[in-house]
Amino acid sequence: MIRIGQGFDAHAFREGGELVLGGVRIPHTHSLAAHSDGDVALHALCDALLGAAALGDLGHHFPDTDPKYAGISSRALLSSVQAMLLEAGFEVLNVDVTLIAQRPKLAPHVPAMRANIAAELAIPPARVSVKATTTEHLGFTGREEGIAALAVALVREGEA
Ligand code: MG
Repeated sequence: MIRIGQGFDAHAFREGGELVLGGVRIPHTHSLAAHSDGDVALHALCDALLGAAALGDLGHHFPDTDPKYAGISSRALLSSVQAMLLEAGFEVLNVDVTLIAQRPKLAPHVPAMRANIAAELAIPPARVSVKATTTEHLGFTGREEGIAALAVALVREGEA
């Protein structure tokens, strides 16, 4: 059986710090405020994967009230989510992530993000899509107050 899941996340900018998206450190004046490294791309993707398998959501598995997850790399979260899906008998077929940000320019970093995600999910980069868009200065992303991300994941249930 083929199943689909979707995910969404958004985080506010704060001055300084390290901006990490799709596991890639991106030079910028601001980073994303969060309990973890604030990687909205990977958070949305984790929720899409968990959603496809109906395994709850990221906040349920990794509560931001737990000091254990302070500053944690979201690649570690993605890796844990991948392990949960495997354990539950799901195989990831493909994923598609859209980042919504006015700035910085994300296109140059897309290949590295795809490679990171493919590595964590143990699938070829050809099955990992990462896209970036602006909102033409509209809304909170357009005002450069933060970054949002959407993701969908397709998985196969049952024997591989
Ligand atoms: Mg988040």
